[in-house]
Formats: sequence, C-alpha cells, structure tokens
Amino acid sequence: MNAKSDLSPIKQIPIIEVAKRLGIQVRGTKAMCFSGHDKASPSLSFLKSRNTWRCFGACGKHGDGVSLVMEKEGLDFKSALEWFARNFAVDVTRQYRGQSRRGRVVRAKKATVVKAVIPEQQEFTADPELYEWLIDKCASVSSPAGVTYLDTHCISPESATGFNIRELRDPARAFRKLVEKWGGPRVYRSGVAWGSDGHPERLTWSSHALLFPFYEQGVVTYIQARMFQGEPKFLNPRGVPKPMFNADRLQKLKPGQLIHLCEGVPDAIAVESHGLAAVGILGATSFRADWVDRFLKLKVVVLGDGDAAGAKFAKDISTFFMERGKAVQCKPLPKGKDVAEVLAQARRPK
Ligand SMILES: [Zn+2]
Repeated sequence: MNAKSDLSPIKQIPIIEVAKRLGIQVRGTKAMCFSGHDKASPSLSFLKSRNTWRCFGACGKHGDGVSLVMEKEGLDFKSALEWFARNFAVDVTRQYRGQSRRGRVVRAKKATVVKAVIPEQQEFTADPELYEWLIDKCASVSSPAGVTYLDTHCISPESATGFNIRELRDPARAFRKLVEKWGGPRVYRSGVAWGSDGHPERLTWSSHALLFPFYEQGVVTYIQARMFQGEPKFLNPRGVPKPMFNADRLQKLKPGQLIHLCEGVPDAIAVESHGLAAVGILGATSFRADWVDRFLKLKVVVLGDGDAAGAKFAKDISTFFMERGKAVQCKPLPKGKDVAEVLAQARRPK
C-alpha cells in the first residue's frame, strides 16, 4: 500500500477549497501569499488541473493540499492530516489498518493517526540521506585544481574540512554507484541527475567539481557544485528549493553579534575562514521573506561584490529587511573586487 493512494481522499478535495478553509482570500485562481511578502499583487497561484499551488513571489513555495496546510498553519504532516479530518471529515488514517476504506468519508470528528505516514513524493525533493551518502563517498579536496580554487578564494584548509567540502572526480562512477545504492527513481527525484519521466540518465554534475554540502541541524539539505569545466560554473540539484548556506550559524550567535550575508557559498566560507560569521545566499531571488525572522536579533551586514550585480544583490536583500523595519548595513566592496580579493588584501587576524 503506498502513501499516494492512501491520501487520495484528501487529494480529491479541490485545492481552492482547502485554501478557503485556511482563511486564504482567493480571487479566481490567485491570492496574496500567506508568507506575508506580497504587498500589492498576489503571488500565490492555484492550478486546478493538477490540484496544486505555487507562489511566484519571494518564498517560491509550492505543493499540494497537505503541504499548503503544513506551510500555512506551521503543522507537521501528521497534524495536517488531523486538520483535514477536522475540516473535511476525511479520515485517511484508518486505511493503514489494512481494511479497504479508501475514499471513505467518516463522520467521526477525531482522527486516528498512524505513526509511519510517508508524504507523497513530489517530482523533485531534497533527499538528505542520499546527499549525505554521496558526500561521504567523495574524497576531501586534494587535486591541484581543487587546492588552487580554495586558495584563490581565501578558503583555509581548516574551513574546507570544517565545511566538509568534497571533490567529485568521476561523475560517471558516482552516478552508477548512486543508482546501485538508491535506485533510479529515487536518484532522479533527488534532483542530482538529468533524465526524464523519473529515469535518471547521468549526474547533473558531469565533470570534475567541488561539492559544497549544506547542513541544517546536522543533516545535508542541499549540495552545490562548483564545476571546473564549462558553464555555468555553479550547478545545483534541479527542482529543489535553494536553502541558505551555513544556516545553523544563526542559532550560535548571541543577540547583537554580526552576521555577514554573502552572495554564494565560497564567499561565505571565505568570510568564515577569517573568523567572521557568515551565511551564503544563492542569489537574491532565492531569499525567502520568512528567513528575516532568523536575523532580527543580529547585526546584519550584506556583502555584495563591487560590481552592478553585487550592488543589486545588496539592494534586493536589504529590501526584505526594510519591509520588516530591520536596518541592515550594506558594505559595497571596492569597484571590481569580490569578497575573496578583499579578504586576501585585508589579512584579518583570526
Ligand atoms: Zn510566497
């Protein structure tokens, strides 16, 4: 019995009905996003044909009815199912006892919730277990190209170890091993492979690369690769929302301490290498309005490169904070310089 069919009674409820029951003011197939970032025009969109929703604004969240309830109400999966039992009298939890009650609408107000419920798989989802396995299988940085990259980007060997930067030397072999271990469909869903219709054909990263794992509470939530060949230089798992790099750092800081917001992973690690606290943002478009909360008690410095793109990054990020009445400092770097170059010159003591 798989989770997909078990959830079918919930999946049949029109997404717009779910949204309305959550108190979202729907006009046609649009609404202001519940994340609170919409000021003038609605970013939240409902796709009736697929019974899904997606925010085209700052938060970029998307999913099905269950995930809408989870996101809007801040509930875990189990509690979201209970919400459906209360609000639509659809109890999907009873089916797990092996009886054929699929689709049955029950009168009972109280839901019987089972322990192990597997959320429905979206096409691409972060797969921490698989990501961690891949990182573990790759060696630490030792090739001349890798060592030179770290050096020229002001990333100390200690930081390279601390942030667990790895080297992908043989993508074809890594791909074979991944499929052997996790099976093609799961490799495909994790976003680390190219292919179609659930069948992976090759690794997203098809040449020699450095791998930067993103940790959140000890779990690998994302991997970004810096390629040594071809363009673009940075390649991410496809279809997986971009998290913040080094997010755990925020919890370790005391109120009033400085945090540097850098564009990209290498800059954040370079700043950390110099004894300063930093998080990395994968471009201003990946910044989510609800992240601002995590910075409210800190002194925020936004570091953008000394070019037009860097200035735009700083401006866009600052806007998120300004909307919440939080002042941030933007440190424009000297014209034409990036963070690594400035750090190399400054030679700050640790
Ligand atoms: Zn949104």
